Amino acid sequence: MTSSSKFIFVTGGVTSSLGKGIISASLAKLLQARGYSVTIQKFDPYINVDPGTLNPYEHGECYVTNDGAETDLDLGHYERFLNIPTSQANNVTTGRIYSDVIQKERRGDYLGKTVQVIPHITNEIKRRILILGSSGKYDFVITEIGGTIGDIESQPYVEAVRQLRWELEKHESLVIHLTLVPFLRTSGELKTKPTQHSVKELLSMGVQPNILVCRSEYPLSPEVRQKIALFCNIKLEAVIESLDAESIYDVPLHMLSEKLDEVVLNRMKMPLGEKPEMKNWTNFLHRLKNPTQEVDIALIGKYVELKDSYLSIAESFVHAGAANGCKVNLKWVHSEELNEHNVDFLLDYVQGILIAPGFGERGIEGKIEAAKYARVNDIPFFGICLGMQCAVIEFGRNVLKLPNANSTEFDEDAENKVIDIMENQKKIIDMGGTMRLGAYDCTIKEDSNALRAYRQHDIQERHRHRFEFNSSYKSVYREYGMTSVGINPDSGLVEIIEIPEHTWYVGVQFHPEYRSTVTNPHPLFVDFVKSALAKRNN
Ligand code: GLN
Repeated sequence: MTSSSKFIFVTGGVTSSLGKGIISASLAKLLQARGYSVTIQKFDPYINVDPGTLNPYEHGECYVTNDGAETDLDLGHYERFLNIPTSQANNVTTGRIYSDVIQKERRGDYLGKTVQVIPHITNEIKRRILILGSSGKYDFVITEIGGTIGDIESQPYVEAVRQLRWELEKHESLVIHLTLVPFLRTSGELKTKPTQHSVKELLSMGVQPNILVCRSEYPLSPEVRQKIALFCNIKLEAVIESLDAESIYDVPLHMLSEKLDEVVLNRMKMPLGEKPEMKNWTNFLHRLKNPTQEVDIALIGKYVELKDSYLSIAESFVHAGAANGCKVNLKWVHSEELNEHNVDFLLDYVQGILIAPGFGERGIEGKIEAAKYARVNDIPFFGICLGMQCAVIEFGRNVLKLPNANSTEFDEDAENKVIDIMENQKKIIDMGGTMRLGAYDCTIKEDSNALRAYRQHDIQERHRHRFEFNSSYKSVYREYGMTSVGINPDSGLVEIIEIPEHTWYVGVQFHPEYRSTVTNPHPLFVDFVKSALAKRNN
């Protein structure tokens, strides 16, 4: 078999959370900076068809692509590093693989054969890897296998990789294995045994890795590198050190100095070309690490114990902070702990308030209290999805004095359903993949903060919601000072609200955080941070 793309598989050993996503994205960045086209794909070995139905405590944030796929948060890293959009094809779970195979079986596609993990499940896995390669768009397809080698769940994926490696020509694929080299304080040494064992485990499944990326707290001495190379059948230059980094955005440069990209290209018989063009990246890092100002922004959410739940928002602030030459200190505030008695105390010192997206009633009253505090005290305010809906509810209750203004999501019998279920959501019973998902158009009106930020009338942003601003309240809201400044041209749905009297009070029904990248910090985040800075300097 030959393919126009080269395939790089990334596996992980010893422990989870070593950062396969960041290593994959960093390698992709370096290859991209050498002029190659790259895409990254992640396989998640769980039975959910996608992470859309998962509680953020289980799995962190659910990232949404332009084509409306609810995906793993690693896809956010891929987009932030590479500045190119991903799609449904870039994230596949075991649940999706099985559901496709079972559908085919029900259709009779297998012609009476017994359907088995090998070859039917592994064939489906291989098909989904090769499909990206056969698109002709990419020089490299990097496939990250979720989980840790040795897990029962990821075995079919490793088996599919083993088969593919035999089917492809020698230089068309390689395996990078990410491991941990722990430091044993009592003996004062770095230990290589866990890495040796995890490579043995991979070998027992028929896969010899070509490159080892070794996460470590301390530099690997030449002896340690030699030992790893010797015991794991790896060329010395392919033992790559990955020290703990100050920022995830440092990792591509660490990998560059370890020559990960060169080792990959040499092994795949691809020309090295020019030294990677990383000027914009290093400029960004310079601004990130040398801020001249600081600003405190409160992030109000109900999953704040697990920072990964709001990963894209936090990263958007990293990008927007660097763009403003300022450090954004995010103050994570639990919405359930906020109330009218302590709001003053909890939010007194911040120069900006962001209310995060979310689902369900828990913590809603705290979010509404925070929206009020921002409005009354003229503190720059940014409401995202549920955050925008809370701002609308607050305005309805306290400015329009509408009795019991609420969202149908929290009170189906509310007298004033200022946020209501979207018409086409009413009949939906299944929860998975049925929200209004993905990119939709929005037209922005003159003389708004949104237009000043975007500098264009027609934009596209990604969505993930079932409820919307109830259009029958639009004109009375406008009369009282909250205007709809962004509208979907096809459905008329309200996408952006603002309070023109306020310094910067913007609520968006969409998720701008999914589109912020190192190269293109999101204009709304940049403008929000700018107005918070202005507030601080006043
Ligand atoms: N729960 C709200 C809705 O479904 C908001 C969703 C969100 O914040 N992503 O409309």
